[in-house]
Amino acid sequence: MKLLKNVLVSLFLVGSFGYLGYFFYQYSINPCDKGLKYSIGVFDNQFNVSKEDFKKYVAESEVVWEKALGRDIFVYEPEADFKINLIYDQRQLETVQKQKTEFGLSAIEDVFKKLDVDFGVFKNKYDERIYSYEKDLNLFENRKDDYENEIAFWNSKGGAPKEKFEALEKERLYLNTEATRLNKESSSINILTSELNKLLKERNIKATEYNKVAESYNQKYNQSLEFNQAEYTGKEINIYQFNNKKDLILALTHEFGHALGMDHVENAKSIMYYITGTDTETSLVLSAEDLAELNRVCKIK
Ligand SMILES: [Zn+2]
Repeated sequence: MKLLKNVLVSLFLVGSFGYLGYFFYQYSINPCDKGLKYSIGVFDNQFNVSKEDFKKYVAESEVVWEKALGRDIFVYEPEADFKINLIYDQRQLETVQKQKTEFGLSAIEDVFKKLDVDFGVFKNKYDERIYSYEKDLNLFENRKDDYENEIAFWNSKGGAPKEKFEALEKERLYLNTEATRLNKESSSINILTSELNKLLKERNIKATEYNKVAESYNQKYNQSLEFNQAEYTGKEINIYQFNNKKDLILALTHEFGHALGMDHVENAKSIMYYITGTDTETSLVLSAEDLAELNRVCKIK
């Protein structure tokens, strides 16, 4: 009555790696007093953002500075010379590819987790069954040994008295019944074992699939890609890449800051910090460093 036990567990989980996007700007005259009229220039639809929404995001960005200054500075005007451009190239293409891979990974992960739970539940029941089978088998074998010893003893005496003989016969019948039951249980457990192995195989196939995708994801993205996410050139703002709406608004706000004449500041949580993408904590709240720099270029009233 041999049982097959074969349990393998393997899974690597990967973390997520970010982009490092750089802001870039060139210096020009600051519009703190005369204001800055802007329009939308190049607008690439491949970003999957409508022009209407984009204009809304731009408006949300300008307000960050205007609120701090207590006055209106940036004004949308359809024909204004100062352009805000949304330019689609390799940078955004890769961003989308990366997001798709992450989406695929999490889908595989969901399936894996379900299989893993199913396997775990089944395995617990299976283990309980094995435990009680082995316990019963042990009892059975002890009783069988006792029985056989007694038989041998009475045989050496040339036979047992009637009462003893009947008790032994009763024990023999019990042992036969129990042996039949244990054999049946063993067959059931063998069936369960093959079901367990099937579940395990499915689970491991998913784990392998996950690991394969995760490995190629890691190979591709474990070195942070560095590029200009957005730039202020003195007469326009170009946006090249963003991960989501929040990211886009942050980039626009940063470039508007340059348009006001602001330089980069220290403190990674600042809007005017030179790098983006690693610190997801960066919000649209101006840091003390942002405010000091704003006050340097445009007096806060
Ligand atoms: Zn910058």
